[in-house]
Amino acid sequence: MEANGMEANMREITLKIDDKEVRAKEGTPLLEVAKSVGINIPTLCHHRALSSYGSCRICSVEIVDKRGRKRIVTSCNYPAEEGLVVYTNSDKTIRTRKTLLELLLARTPNVPKIQELAREYGIEKPSFWVADGNEDCILCGLCTRVCAELVGVNAIDFANRGVERQVTTPYYAFSDDCIGCGACAIICPTKSKRTRINTYPVLEEDAKQINAQFLKGTFDENIGVYTSILSAKGPYGGQDGGVVTALLVSGLQKGMFDSAIVVQRKEGYEAEAVVAENIDDVIKARGTKYLRVKMLPILKELLEMGKNKLAVVGTPCEVRAARRIQQVLLPEYPDLQLTVIGLFCFEAFDYEKLKDTVQKLLGVDLDSVEKTQIHKGQFIATVNGKDYSTPVKTLSAAIENGCPFCDDFTNKYADVSVGSVGSDEGFSTIIVRSDIGDNLLENAELIKGIVDKEEITKLAIFKKKRATKNLAPLKQPDVQVQPPAPIPRTH
Ligand SMILES: Cc1cc2nc3c(=O)[nH]c(=O)nc-3n(C[C@H](O)[C@H](O)[C@H](O)COP(=O)(O)OP(=O)(O)OC[C@H]3O[C@@H](n4cnc5c(N)ncnc54)[C@H](O)[C@@H]3O)c2cc1C
Ligand code: SF4
Ligand code: SF4
Repeated sequence: MEANGMEANMREITLKIDDKEVRAKEGTPLLEVAKSVGINIPTLCHHRALSSYGSCRICSVEIVDKRGRKRIVTSCNYPAEEGLVVYTNSDKTIRTRKTLLELLLARTPNVPKIQELAREYGIEKPSFWVADGNEDCILCGLCTRVCAELVGVNAIDFANRGVERQVTTPYYAFSDDCIGCGACAIICPTKSKRTRINTYPVLEEDAKQINAQFLKGTFDENIGVYTSILSAKGPYGGQDGGVVTALLVSGLQKGMFDSAIVVQRKEGYEAEAVVAENIDDVIKARGTKYLRVKMLPILKELLEMGKNKLAVVGTPCEVRAARRIQQVLLPEYPDLQLTVIGLFCFEAFDYEKLKDTVQKLLGVDLDSVEKTQIHKGQFIATVNGKDYSTPVKTLSAAIENGCPFCDDFTNKYADVSVGSVGSDEGFSTIIVRSDIGDNLLENAELIKGIVDKEEITKLAIFKKKRATKNLAPLKQPDVQVQPPAPIPRTH
């Protein structure tokens, strides 16, 4: 049944667009069919990489169905059907688009993209009341859809109805889910500031500002701003060289911070962000948990408690959030002294999926492992002193949503970044990026090793290429990611 249904949906049909006979797969959106024969229908809320939404309605066309009924429909989500007659530029279509553009121009009078399109339809000025001359969001929903459907993190959504409708984060608060990949900012047709409220896309201008405000040194486009790169190990043990632990101990001893947000395992392998206030707490939190652990709620809590000498240890996504929050909050908390220790990160895993996959592939209960490592392309789980390993690529189904869109390997905005790549076993690679970083290293008890910068650069480029490839379709609305699925008939 299903197969027949699919076949029926994929059958070739004939319809007419602007008096031209056109063959198309049944169910393909009219907008796509028109485009395939060189007829361009304007749209603001449609993107081939995402589901159709029909919110801006600018792609309205007039159709005449088999029973001779005429009506206006949105071509982005109206399916091609046998015998349909479509007019993309009839008087009624043009009148409909004009009215819609007048409304959009009244909502966002100063957005060039809307001004331009309105002008194409002979509209120079808004003819409706302008409520807010600074509004720049047309509520097209591209940002919310890209975040949910492609990146898969659901950091933003619509809230409220009617004139109050807006794109925002849950509870209008700093998002715990945003990974700062910037997909929303890339896809937004109006480059709205809404994609930057309580979310953390680090655009080129933000990167420059963060570099100027918090960091110092040479700029390297793959590694970020840095003053020195070295390899070392500390005295407390840890995941690699135990450098993060040694730096945290050094910072606590020097009084650079009195609370550090670190990540500790719960009962099993699941992990949570906790506050370390002394050396024992720091040592207890040693070791990598290959999960994306959110630390923003704790950072907010500590700030509200009046703490102002803080350290965070985080993956690049958490560090991006911390830096953007720091930029926003500095006027409110001028005494805030934040030390940011970043971990290199290629990807993190979803706890449940990783547990399932590790059980299947290695026959090991993830919750019982003493240590996990990723080394030379292998994921290694140690249980009762015995190592069980599988190529990391066999765990691809367990990778966290969002990671394939993230382009920062070396944690470019941290005061000091630490990873294993570039160092011999038992050592950590350290990239120092600020005075705070220098200060942390000054008293830390470290034994130096040999560092290979090329190896770090290679992986940084590799990660960036992956993100660029995955984000590329967003910059090219006409590039198809997957064939658009035929739309079930709803009209
Ligand atoms: C998800 C993830 C992926 C990584 N991928 C790579 C990689 O591809 N290549 C590479 O070179 N390095 C990677 N690292 C970093 C590496 O695993 C080590 O954390 C780093 O080398 C520091 O080792 P250390 O011995 O100096 O740290 P330690 O002294 O053992 O201290 C580790 C510190 O990291 C904190 N921590 C542990 N897990 C997390 C977490 N999930 N989120 C935030 N903080 C955490 C701990 O609380 C502790 O303070 C990754 C880390 C994470 C968390
Ligand atoms: S912020 Fe941009 S992408 Fe999101 S709904 Fe508004 S106009 Fe559309
Ligand atoms: S790859 Fe690492 S830094 Fe990027 S989103 Fe995933 S966990 Fe965060």
